[in-house]
Amino acid sequence: MASFSEISFADQRVLVRVDFNVPLDENYNVTDNTRIRAALPTIKKLVGDGAKVILMSHLGRPKGGPDEKFSLKHICSEVANLLGQEVNFSSDCIGDTAKNEVEKLSNGSVLLLENLRFYTEEEGGDEFFAGQLAELGDAYVNDAFGTAHRAHASTAVIAKFFPTDKYFGFLMEQEVLSIERVLNSTERPVTAIVGGSKVSSKIAIIENLLSTVDHLIIGGGMAFTFIKAQGGEIGNSLVEDDKLELALQLLSLAESKGVQIHLPSDAIIADAFSANANVSSADITSIPAGWMGLDVGEKSVEQFSSIILQSKIVLWNGPMGVFELEPFANGTIAIAKALVKATENGAFTLVGGGDSVAAINQFKLAEKVSYVSTGGGAMLESLEGIELPGIAAIKN
Ligand code: AMP
Repeated sequence: MASFSEISFADQRVLVRVDFNVPLDENYNVTDNTRIRAALPTIKKLVGDGAKVILMSHLGRPKGGPDEKFSLKHICSEVANLLGQEVNFSSDCIGDTAKNEVEKLSNGSVLLLENLRFYTEEEGGDEFFAGQLAELGDAYVNDAFGTAHRAHASTAVIAKFFPTDKYFGFLMEQEVLSIERVLNSTERPVTAIVGGSKVSSKIAIIENLLSTVDHLIIGGGMAFTFIKAQGGEIGNSLVEDDKLELALQLLSLAESKGVQIHLPSDAIIADAFSANANVSSADITSIPAGWMGLDVGEKSVEQFSSIILQSKIVLWNGPMGVFELEPFANGTIAIAKALVKATENGAFTLVGGGDSVAAINQFKLAEKVSYVSTGGGAMLESLEGIELPGIAAIKN
């Protein structure tokens, strides 16, 4: 498959699925334009080639029909400002209105179509609707990693109308390459750090990672289910009692696959789930009754950091503690810093999925690791080993 960067799209009508599902305030101002900025390299390349660029996206969750509140017209000026050129708008994403707007485009100009989810056919993956969208373009580019785990009309089904002229945009390409570099690595050792609140939400990820990594570091609230399963005293720490057996099974699966599991050896403990609680530290297996572990302790940080620094590939998913509360943020900050150092030493470091992304942004260290994924659910499903419909549709 020719890569997007190698092709010139001059004179072509290029239909680009972007993820412009951005938050708006009550006056329809974009409050976080990260997703729009993430799509700019792809749009700018197409504009530079002299293509007619047709952008399509969803916004929010309209209830199957046009709804002013979810109109993409509200974000047109933000896209234009970031892009540095005029962006035309089509008040319908299919039919004569859209066709007429596309007709008017000159080479190097940009059109944004109205919210795809004003048609229930979008989420329904309707083939006829996908065909109507496809009529608008000569080539299809998917740059919406955030929705790549959905088999919607514009993210997956549409690709069949472009058997040869379908491409990943730069953002998708980067996401796909980053995940592949971790899951199919030839460089070793590979370390995954998994944290967050519950084992139950990460079972499939842990199982999949056990087939690919050398080291698995487990932190955050979920570590206590493993510690309790092994007979440790965890006081009032977060635990899933119905997952104790599963935790033991995961540990023995790791052993059979030769994966080294690293659980915390100590914890920062508190007598309440509050930034104003009394705080102390304890061995991870002897947390007193009435106290709960809300962060990993100093010894654990040292132990985890040393593994990270020995690794060639590091994946980080999920915080080490309740990083939102200042007294319990140290473990998560320390892991972020270890990733930065590993990156400086030449390791490939990927931060992906949910709260670890929020954490690395909060610590302002996102620029200092190799890659921070833009897709929450899409990243989690990729780590579970699922081939995402939006990715499969382009590749196959
Ligand atoms: P998740 O959404 O499963 O990735 O979990 C992220 C959440 O886990 C964050 O909001 C953290 O505050 C929380 N968390 C991390 N460590 C702990 C802990 N030891 N006890 C309770 N919650 C935790």
